Amino acid sequence: MHAPGPVHVIGGGLAGSEAAWQIARQGVPAVLHEMRPLRSTDAHKTGSLAELVCSNSFRSDDADGSAIGLLHAEMRRLGSLVMQAADAHKLPAGGALAVDRDGFSTAITTALEGDPLIDIGREEILAPPADWDNVIIATGPLTSPALAETIRTLTGEDALAFFDAIAPIVHRDTIDFGIAWFQSRYDKAGPAGSGADYINCPLTRPQYEAFVDALLAGEKIAFRDFEATPYFDGCLPIEVMAERGRETLRHGPMKPFGLTNPHQPQQKPYAVVQLRQDNKLGTLFNMVGFQTKLKHGEQVRTFRSIPGLANAEFARLGGLHRNTFLNSPKLLDATLRLKAMPRLRFAGQITGCEGYVESAAIGLLAGRFAAAERRAERPHLPPPTTAHGALLGHITGGHVETIDAGPRSFQPMNVNFGLFPPLGGVARGARKQALCARALADLDTWIGAAVPHAAE
Ligand SMILES: Cc1cc2nc3c(=O)[nH]c(=O)nc-3n(C[C@H](O)[C@H](O)[C@H](O)COP(=O)(O)OP(=O)(O)OC[C@H]3O[C@@H](n4cnc5c(N)ncnc54)[C@H](O)[C@@H]3O)c2cc1C
Repeated sequence: MHAPGPVHVIGGGLAGSEAAWQIARQGVPAVLHEMRPLRSTDAHKTGSLAELVCSNSFRSDDADGSAIGLLHAEMRRLGSLVMQAADAHKLPAGGALAVDRDGFSTAITTALEGDPLIDIGREEILAPPADWDNVIIATGPLTSPALAETIRTLTGEDALAFFDAIAPIVHRDTIDFGIAWFQSRYDKAGPAGSGADYINCPLTRPQYEAFVDALLAGEKIAFRDFEATPYFDGCLPIEVMAERGRETLRHGPMKPFGLTNPHQPQQKPYAVVQLRQDNKLGTLFNMVGFQTKLKHGEQVRTFRSIPGLANAEFARLGGLHRNTFLNSPKLLDATLRLKAMPRLRFAGQITGCEGYVESAAIGLLAGRFAAAERRAERPHLPPPTTAHGALLGHITGGHVETIDAGPRSFQPMNVNFGLFPPLGGVARGARKQALCARALADLDTWIGAAVPHAAE
């Protein structure tokens, strides 16, 4: 039997490096194409593979109570190169996993360069050649402009975003429904709605005035030099709207019209904050129109002043960054392949996950899926109860696209417990631990069952 042809991986960052490693572990050759050091991005500084462009933290390593710690544990069980290098180069950082960035990237570069099944090509790929039949594109948030243009042409005008504009996302079970209520404006059902799809939080005039003051005074994060100022219509940060006039928000995302507060039907709210369902599980709701550059501490303090959100827990906070990512729930199939051109698979932050670890985890899955396909086996999807499955679900189908005819709403996300199928009958204080225990047990069963299945 002759050797299988290689899988081509474009981009030797966190996702591409992990993907190439996983492909080789399945006995399949890989070619990893990385443009650095010949051509760099605005954030990378070296020619090393899996360079960490900013912080050196992989965040919490607690596999009993944090979703990211759970993802670390799952990746270790799946033989992740990124986790091996992180563990070998960890630095003291309390409960977090922080790494020596040079030691980490050098270890990954050395391991990949020394692997007999992996070739590394230092070149910029402008477009995947037509004779590459099994490709992973993992070129990250700063994909080179020429390749980004190719992807944009393949996927359509509005399917590739160059900035994210992230509104904060709240865990539904931390919202006070003694104050908030479900209702769509004018009770409109819309194409996929019920007429009561939004969660509404009412503000009196003094509460609104205090909220605007807090927005204006709050400390903001500056854009980096290369980001320019990516404001575009319909997507202004709330603090910029507030700067344009004290009433602007009341006539924009906080307008109170078409809504009746069932807790106080006689009293019209002066302003209303609306939250819209964000995932199919109905566990996460995003604050509509609340993209912001406020610092994270300011966001928590300011948004908890909104009636109904005093105890809100945030699955993610708002932001606005230079990014490159696909409208994945629409474009990708369950194994991360472009539906319109299945020889191309995507991995890493370009798929709409966020963070070093999440990007590497999606690289891990993409590598395994691509290798299975090359071996004529059916890719084996991780259970949705695992951190890998939850993250994959967010990217390939767990997100609610839009309830009404709004702009595309898919935005990058870190792994968090709101992406996991809920667990019934567990006391709130014990829930995270139970979700972690269920995930690791299901992952072990999945690993045990991962015997090859012939492709159909
Ligand atoms: C400024 C900035 C700061 C960030 N800070 C953090 C942080 O502190 N913590 C965190 O968790 N995440 C951070 N991120 C997000 C971070 O980039 C991702 O978490 C992670 O690096 C994404 O992994 P990836 O493999 O998808 O992309 P990357 O790690 O960026 O890897 C993509 C690789 O593809 C290469 N490439 C691009 N185009 C081509 C091409 N045409 N041909 C060949 N190679 C190409 C690039 O050189 C790069 O090596 C930050 C992102 C940016 C832009």
